[in-house]
Amino acid sequence: LERTAIEYMDEVYESIQERNPFEVEFLQAVKEIFDSLLPVFIKNPQYMENGILERIVEPERLLIFRVPWVDDTGKVRVNRGFRVQFNSSIGPYKGGLRFHPTVNASIIKFLGFEQIFKNALTGLPIGGGKGGADFDPKGKSDQEIMRFCQSFMTELYKYIGPDKDVPAGDIGVGAREIGYLFGQYKRLEGDFHAGVLTGKGLGYGGSLARKEATGYGTVYFVEEMLKANGMSFSGSTVVVSGSGNVSIYAMEKATQLGAKVVACSDSDGYIYDPFGINLSTVKRLKEVERKRIEEYVNEHPHAQYSPDCSSIWSIPCDIALPCATQNEINADSALLLIENGVKAVGEGANMPSTLDAIELFHKHHVLFGPGKAVNAGGVAVSALEMAQNSMRLSWSFEEVDVKLQEIMKNIYQKSMECAEEYGQPNNLVVGANIAGFLTVADAMIAQGVI
Ligand code: GLU
Repeated sequence: LERTAIEYMDEVYESIQERNPFEVEFLQAVKEIFDSLLPVFIKNPQYMENGILERIVEPERLLIFRVPWVDDTGKVRVNRGFRVQFNSSIGPYKGGLRFHPTVNASIIKFLGFEQIFKNALTGLPIGGGKGGADFDPKGKSDQEIMRFCQSFMTELYKYIGPDKDVPAGDIGVGAREIGYLFGQYKRLEGDFHAGVLTGKGLGYGGSLARKEATGYGTVYFVEEMLKANGMSFSGSTVVVSGSGNVSIYAMEKATQLGAKVVACSDSDGYIYDPFGINLSTVKRLKEVERKRIEEYVNEHPHAQYSPDCSSIWSIPCDIALPCATQNEINADSALLLIENGVKAVGEGANMPSTLDAIELFHKHHVLFGPGKAVNAGGVAVSALEMAQNSMRLSWSFEEVDVKLQEIMKNIYQKSMECAEEYGQPNNLVVGANIAGFLTVADAMIAQGVI
């Protein structure tokens, strides 16, 4: 049976490679899942008979569209928009929009693929989707951002809806962009469908604690992982990459739990503050003034700036929280962290560690929490926002925060149990992948060959 399962998985993986030859990030995400699933196929051959693997790696739909807009000088510009509707077996497609110059089909597909399993892990009824554009918001005026969002939605609105596909934010898409996108959707659709987007402003259907959810959830998950091993954030030194929504609220919660966060970054470089990062400065620079992180040292002259964001991992720390972007920790960075005594790594970003970096963390017994489990708090609170929109009411910050904490604990427990049950105790990568997969695969089998 084991040989049949191995042969079957190799065959399916080869055909995916052949059909998506240049999609490096997508193949990386698929490989990570496949590497975890062998024990599932040995134990439950029905997943092979139902062709689940062949089906789950093929998006239900991939939309690619032109996004034309006019810049402030009057010049016509064109970007490429994407939405992958990957899997709707347990709920409407759900996942963020990323506006970043690196966006392409491979990036959107890897993110959408990860989203399927992440969303299933939350225990809430949401399918997997993702979207975005190769648009660079850096240096654009507010008017340009608005025109771009309006044009993007003018195409996308045909394909989304509160029971169909519910986008949200990701890199480059925050409350401002969601506001412009929602306004345009409402105008085109003619109805106030609050639940068509999440991450909305609090005045028009947004949820309290959504902004904080990914970062807080990341820390809640890692605290569970630490606690189970006799450790805690309290008294520890932490490095958090990024300085966006995920990073800022991960730093906030880690600090509240008694940690000292000494470094964070943006795509230009990182800051190191041995006294602990001053969060109100970072919040003002990033959330209000939309400036570069380099400016931090003007206000805190004892801090240092380095114009190389990847060397942030050379700073000694107990806990590393990569909250910037994919593949930001490679094998070299992982080795540096290990040599400097890192005890735990929690992925606030999506797929921030390469496959060989993860292998090194496991080999050196560093506690490792994979993104699809660790950062699931964001999309989980998005699903709570949808629930509040359906009920036409809003919960208090505390109510949402308590639910978020429960969800993160459940994800940790479920992942640990699955890892144990399938013969890889304490391996949260395997546990999270299997737990997410089983939920989706069972729903797919129940619904027939679709
Ligand atoms: N972009 C976030 C993620 O990677 C949130 C998605 C959402 O809230 O739908 O999970």
